[in-house]
Amino acid sequence: MTDCLFCKIVSGDVPAKVVRESAGTVAFRDINPQAPTHVLVIPRAHHANVGDLAADAELLAEVVREAHQVAVDEGIADTGYRLVFNTGAQAGQTVFHVHGHVLGGRGLNWPPG
Ligand code: AMP
Ligand code: ZN
Repeated sequence: MTDCLFCKIVSGDVPAKVVRESAGTVAFRDINPQAPTHVLVIPRAHHANVGDLAADAELLAEVVREAHQVAVDEGIADTGYRLVFNTGAQAGQTVFHVHGHVLGGRGLNWPPG
């Protein structure tokens, strides 16, 4: 998609602090971090949300595997982390290229706001 911010990060047209890459995904630091670790994991291919991504079970699994590996790399896999897919406007989705937020490095409240 030409007008999608995260497609532009995949293509390199918009810079990002990339922490991991796989054949189908890119992981980069959130520009407005909400926790000591706040990394976004996206598929290279444009899918609007996690429901659309679920149509490609292999790619969905790759996004989740990479998210876990980010947590391992960041040293938060054992202490605990949260993987969040905000889906739709009421849930706070603002970028409509699916992204998993990997959040950790501090205590995280439940229920979320
Ligand atoms: P959401 O609100 O779930 O759609 O998440 C979008 C996330 O993208 C927010 O946490 C933003 O801080 C983050 N974000 C927006 N623009 C950029 C960017 N250029 N680089 C990295 N993260 C970004
Ligand atoms: Zn996109």
